Amino acid sequence: MIVFDLACACGCRFEGWFRDHGQMQSQRERGLLLCPACGGAAVHKILSPVAVKTGQRRRLRAEEDGAQVTREDARHGQAALKIISEISAYVEANFENVGPRLAEETLKMCCGDKKMRNIRGEASPEEESLLKGKGINLLKVPILKKEKEEPPQ
Ligand SMILES: [Zn+2]
Repeated sequence: MIVFDLACACGCRFEGWFRDHGQMQSQRERGLLLCPACGGAAVHKILSPVAVKTGQRRRLRAEEDGAQVTREDARHGQAALKIISEISAYVEANFENVGPRLAEETLKMCCGDKKMRNIRGEASPEEESLLKGKGINLLKVPILKKEKEEPPQ
């Protein structure tokens, strides 16, 4: 998932979560990207501070879109990173890491084989849609930690 900071002609600023950059572009081109404040479609991206992918961090450079990086945008990006690192730390401290067995463990819990508990880990897009089909939505949170963690055996 990628978070984009968006701005509307009315002066409103908001955040949009997209699968990737292309999805944001196509939604915008088709006029589906609407401002939450005025409902207008005169929305443009102001900066891509952080790109989020399960289990890893990647920073998008603003130059990719030829966007101008202003000092305010940079502050905005840093504030976003701070929030993300807090979420990341919370999840790491309070959720058991099951690594690539996320989908498996989730299914065990929801089918009653295992007690419900907080878990985190990685799921492939296929596993994610499998879970979705069963009415389970994964919450994706950015994890800033760089080193790869080994799941417990
Ligand atoms: Zn607006």
